[in-house]
Amino acid sequence: MVSEVNIPLTAEKTNLLGLDREGLVAFFASLGEKSFRASQVMKWIHQQDVADFQLMNNISKSLRDQLEVLAEITAPEVVLDELSSDGTRKWVLKLNDGNQIETVYIPESDRGTLCVSSQVGCALDCSFCSTGRRGFNRNLTTAEIISQVWLATRLVDEEKKPGRKVTNVVLMGMGEPLLNFDNVVKAVHIMMDDFAYGLSKRRVTVSTAGVVPTMDKLGDVLDSRLAVSLHATNNELRDQLVPINKKYPLEELIPACRRFIEKQNARTRITFEYVMLDGVNDTDQHARELIRLLKGIPTLMNLIPFNPFKGSGYKTSSAKRVNAFSEILMESGMTTVVRRTRGDDIDAACGQLVGKIEDKSRRDRRFEEPRFGMNL
Ligand code: SAH
Repeated sequence: MVSEVNIPLTAEKTNLLGLDREGLVAFFASLGEKSFRASQVMKWIHQQDVADFQLMNNISKSLRDQLEVLAEITAPEVVLDELSSDGTRKWVLKLNDGNQIETVYIPESDRGTLCVSSQVGCALDCSFCSTGRRGFNRNLTTAEIISQVWLATRLVDEEKKPGRKVTNVVLMGMGEPLLNFDNVVKAVHIMMDDFAYGLSKRRVTVSTAGVVPTMDKLGDVLDSRLAVSLHATNNELRDQLVPINKKYPLEELIPACRRFIEKQNARTRITFEYVMLDGVNDTDQHARELIRLLKGIPTLMNLIPFNPFKGSGYKTSSAKRVNAFSEILMESGMTTVVRRTRGDDIDAACGQLVGKIEDKSRRDRRFEEPRFGMNL
């Protein structure tokens, strides 16, 4: 009977997927329950893959009944599940409001990386990214972010193929994680919680285009890894490629990177992402400027061959150019990796995630115009 739990029938159920340990402790405290219930239920949800409260057999029957009335464990619906010829797997998830987001699983010999979205679309408008072009609708909730890990873990496990498993998470899907700070932090807490996914701090990476104030906040509350989408070595070019640079230019971004490192232990490095755009940011001179700009910052340089899309106005740098560029960086002692393009046959590569967004920014219309007068 509903009267037993003192909750009106109309109350919306709490989705327990979206609560980190602190949130679950508070939830159970509101029911007069002890805090250990939080870790018990967290384990059921994230480790045992049990979404039916009645199956949680270390919980009393009366609490299970109460949970059934008050709470739920629901993830978005998988509306598309695609497998690339290179083993990359992409899911399109439909949210309650009809928007769709994408999540990508990228298997490598020694790990399985899940690329997770943090927003419906992206508000940042980077000129070479097709996610940004489709506009922006809203932030994802914590439940919608962690659901991607919850679903992927289960779906990859179901493959029953040795070695295929989610070992790393990168917040490099759709959206700017640092513009959805609170929900992203809670979701990362769940990823790192030993009663949930237990990922170590080196296995979770938050990527940002350079939202300086929240980079500082992130360093205060999380010790995950940080990736910074740099893409240019001077403000003039970065203003064009990553327009948030107009608000937080390099002279603010680079010191913020240094501050982040200072807050972490000495062994941490920042990953810098640098998309290789033919004739735009890929000359020897740019490589030398990059070395100068990042001097003294423990760096892992990730060169990303540009993934082309229709109407982008950019071309990918040749393999020869990318090699020459990376040689210059490596000669200076900078650890440099050329990111292998993965899953491009199913549009799962960097910058190719578009989902289905009910755009509130009306950006899609603007992009019918040619960009920056470039005519490539
Ligand atoms: N907004 C965050 C998270 C997105 S991460 C950020 O900017 O860091 C996605 C990465 O892929 C970013 O480094 C982004 O700049 C890069 N990217 C976007 N479009 C791309 C494209 N077409 N080709 C290659 N990399 C791209």
